[in-house]
Amino acid sequence: MTVMRNITVLSGGVGGARFLEGLLHGIAAGTLPGIDPDAEVTVVANTADDLWAHGLKVCPDLDTVMYTLGGGIDLERGWGHADETWSVMEELRAYGVEPTWFNLGDRDVATHLVRTQMLDAGYPLSEVTHALCRRWLYPRYGAGVRLLPMTDDRVETHVAIADPDAPSGRRVVHFQEYWVRLRAAVPAELLVFVGLEDSTPAPGVVDAITGADLVILPPSNPVVSVGTILGVPGVRDAVSSTRARVVGISPIIGGHHVRGMAEQMLTSIGVEVSAAGVGLHYGARSSGGVLDGWLVDADDTEAVARLAEAGLPAIAVPLWMSDRDATAAMAAAAIGLVADGEPAP
Ligand code: GDP
Ligand code: CA
Repeated sequence: MTVMRNITVLSGGVGGARFLEGLLHGIAAGTLPGIDPDAEVTVVANTADDLWAHGLKVCPDLDTVMYTLGGGIDLERGWGHADETWSVMEELRAYGVEPTWFNLGDRDVATHLVRTQMLDAGYPLSEVTHALCRRWLYPRYGAGVRLLPMTDDRVETHVAIADPDAPSGRRVVHFQEYWVRLRAAVPAELLVFVGLEDSTPAPGVVDAITGADLVILPPSNPVVSVGTILGVPGVRDAVSSTRARVVGISPIIGGHHVRGMAEQMLTSIGVEVSAAGVGLHYGARSSGGVLDGWLVDADDTEAVARLAEAGLPAIAVPLWMSDRDATAAMAAAAIGLVADGEPAP
């Protein structure tokens, strides 16, 4: 079996971060087939969820990955700092300043202050992220983990929703407003990825994909997390042409997302909400897509034959990331599926 040293993961927030925890656990424990114990993991994170709030640049997915891997995440909420307090938020609400629906914890605010100051001083987001990781990632993992934003450019996912009071019958809200304030409870009629097609990959992103031995699409949102990363011009081409094996894991189990709003997002772009639907949406590299292999949950076994027919090798294994061991086992299965296959042309 070929030994794999460079692993690149295209990650959203909570789903991606949980997967990364299990992957790193598996690497450290030596339970992943063909993976060097000193393997280096590069995380390319989605930044299309980013927003400006109260003068601060907030990067939810970068921070979720950083806090989770750095041991600072609030485990119950799955996002934000552990031991958080909310005084700043209460004061802002008392002033009645918008957005009142976006929660910023006091500790979290410090991260956004550092980030915003550095951006104001002219540093690109990738360098700012590197600086923040000096606290969260490097003391724990050394060179073992690197976190890159997908782009240094401003990209924002916006969602069009029905609004009978608007002249057009529609209103457009920032993705965070759709998710946090509206709880994704109304249909997403249209998704607009503002700035995406004019963005360029952040330094190191394309090299991390083309120079990897293994590229993993974790069970992150296929539309507003992985979809936006692949949408940065040059990234999809890098994935489809890399010499690395590319494997993905379904975020949809039994026709539903595990948490979040993947169902609403997939419906919005007309993709079938199923493990097979998402696999076929990414597509096999042998037919112009991005995957060499796809994992579906043990409850979605019927998808395997359908995927194989479409030229996408798939296996059905438990995909619930209930703890680090279960997630590491999932990562091992993903690697096993593609490890000794022929690399794509
Ligand atoms: P977000 O940016 O915080 O929304 O997180 P991601 O985009 O990284 O991941 C969200 C996706 O993770 C959702 O579509 C969920 O269905 C998926 N997810 C969360 N927990 C699990 C799990 O235990 N197993 C699987 N297979 N998917 C999960
Ligand atoms: Ca996200």
